Amino acid sequence: CSRLFDPTISHKTILLGDSGVGKTSFLVKYNTGEFRAGSFSATVGIALTNKIVLVDNTKVKLQIWDTAGQERFRSVTHAYYRDAHALLLLYDVTSKTSFDNIRAWLVEIKEYAQEDVVIMLLGNKADCSSSDRQVKRDEGERLAREYNVAFMETSAKTGLNVELAFLAVARQIKCRR
Ligand code: GDP
Ligand code: MG
Repeated sequence: CSRLFDPTISHKTILLGDSGVGKTSFLVKYNTGEFRAGSFSATVGIALTNKIVLVDNTKVKLQIWDTAGQERFRSVTHAYYRDAHALLLLYDVTSKTSFDNIRAWLVEIKEYAQEDVVIMLLGNKADCSSSDRQVKRDEGERLAREYNVAFMETSAKTGLNVELAFLAVARQIKCRR
């Protein structure tokens, strides 16, 4: 992509999705490579992580926000959306409810986020056994296609597509802005 890109700008990237889908685990895995079973405290507030992702020899700066706890008070997150460059929207493949709620998240995003915000839909906990699964891969694919957003299945536990998701986000940011 050939559009002019400013590598000095830090791009606000927010992890969204229902409580328990694995947002904090996902970011911790990306940061440290580690996975810890059991929920992270929902009371830690907003966690900020700065990362530089290399896309075709260009540095793309990401300022990643983990919405810790605010899922339960969605109105709080509206202010975040406004200046967000990218949104990683997670559901849990073992939770049909978290998948069904994606539509509500997308409605909110359309309402409050910038029109050109990069959206990545992620079906997390893909490592879980098929007997625990409540959402099939192609259901995720179909929803992503319907809303014209990128999609991957991920695992904060094994690391499946964790790096790739942020690389894809950085790549799209670089191309869109
Ligand atoms: P958050 O509320 O969205 O931040 O979710 P957490 O990161 O606190 O994770 C909720 C629970 O799901 C914890 O028990 C995690 O260990 C677990 N978890 C998160 N990601 C994965 C994953 O990819 N695979 C599995 N098997 N468990 C996960
Ligand atoms: Mg969390």
